[in-house]
Amino acid sequence: MRGVIMHAPGDVRVEERPDPVIEKPTDAVIRVAAACICGSDLWPYRGEDAIKRPIPMGHEYVGVVEQIGDDVSGLSVGDFVVGSFIASDNTCEICRDGYQSHCVDRVPMGRLGSQAERLRVPLADGTLVVVPGQPTDDQIRGLLAASDVLGTGWFAAVAAQAGPGKTVAVVGDGAVGLLGILSAKQLGAERIIAMSRHADRQALARRFGATDIVEERGADGVARVKELTDGLGAHSVIEAVGTQESMMQAIRSTRAGGHVGYVGVSHDVELPGAELFGSGVHLHGGPAPVRQYLPELIELIMSGAIDPGAVFDLTLPLDDAAEGYRAMDERRATKVLLTL
Ligand SMILES: [Zn+2]
Repeated sequence: MRGVIMHAPGDVRVEERPDPVIEKPTDAVIRVAAACICGSDLWPYRGEDAIKRPIPMGHEYVGVVEQIGDDVSGLSVGDFVVGSFIASDNTCEICRDGYQSHCVDRVPMGRLGSQAERLRVPLADGTLVVVPGQPTDDQIRGLLAASDVLGTGWFAAVAAQAGPGKTVAVVGDGAVGLLGILSAKQLGAERIIAMSRHADRQALARRFGATDIVEERGADGVARVKELTDGLGAHSVIEAVGTQESMMQAIRSTRAGGHVGYVGVSHDVELPGAELFGSGVHLHGGPAPVRQYLPELIELIMSGAIDPGAVFDLTLPLDDAAEGYRAMDERRATKVLLTL
């Protein structure tokens, strides 16, 4: 089969890879219907993550079940399925509490590489959720977003306790931040402040439910959020970048007693203890337990209640994946969908 391999920073190629096979009786193999490039794929692409190469790329996926292992009972060949970027048994104590991304048996899907024609999915019964019927192309885009960026934005909004009567601020205008806005809106937030300085992303932020746009960053951005909230700060703040600046901007934009949901993959973030002690804010985040939300998100997408697939602003065939990485790296695209 064909699949994306990263050989070195900036060097991504589509090559022949061995077809995946059932390795454990709890595995499934799916034919990938659509894949995509994640903002977090840009860290190794830019050489900012020390990882061993060459490596297969991709951890977001939707597709059709082609083979199942002998112990898989909840899926059939031909089912259209969605899974998250962490495979989980969905039965351990941590999973039952809704934290499947921390499952005691978890397998990071990035190691297996979903930017490919086929994908082995471990712990298939726990990981994969069946979509009723055959989704349309538009629904497939939405379901692919649910696999990571929507599920992650949703978790961030839940962790930030976005809801009726709340003012939510969103730091980061990448795919996760934008879908955090959609999630906050869907959860009933009253006012949503998007922090963005890119006209096209501001437009999408408004379409997803943002009521205010703040272009300033850092201390100026915090001051602007305070101005919009009677000097108090937002009740709920979503952090979707993962840098020192964005994390501090999120914490400082939150009122005392408020909640920060942080989902940007943390890179060298160090929190100052004294400031944290003085802030009185709740912090919750990390790798999103997307699996917890998939049934609900699938229902919202298939019923047309939400359209998260709008976040994909460039669609390319798998063979042009290198151009997709370039476009995201140069910020010519927010989120690239790869067709198969
Ligand atoms: Zn588990």
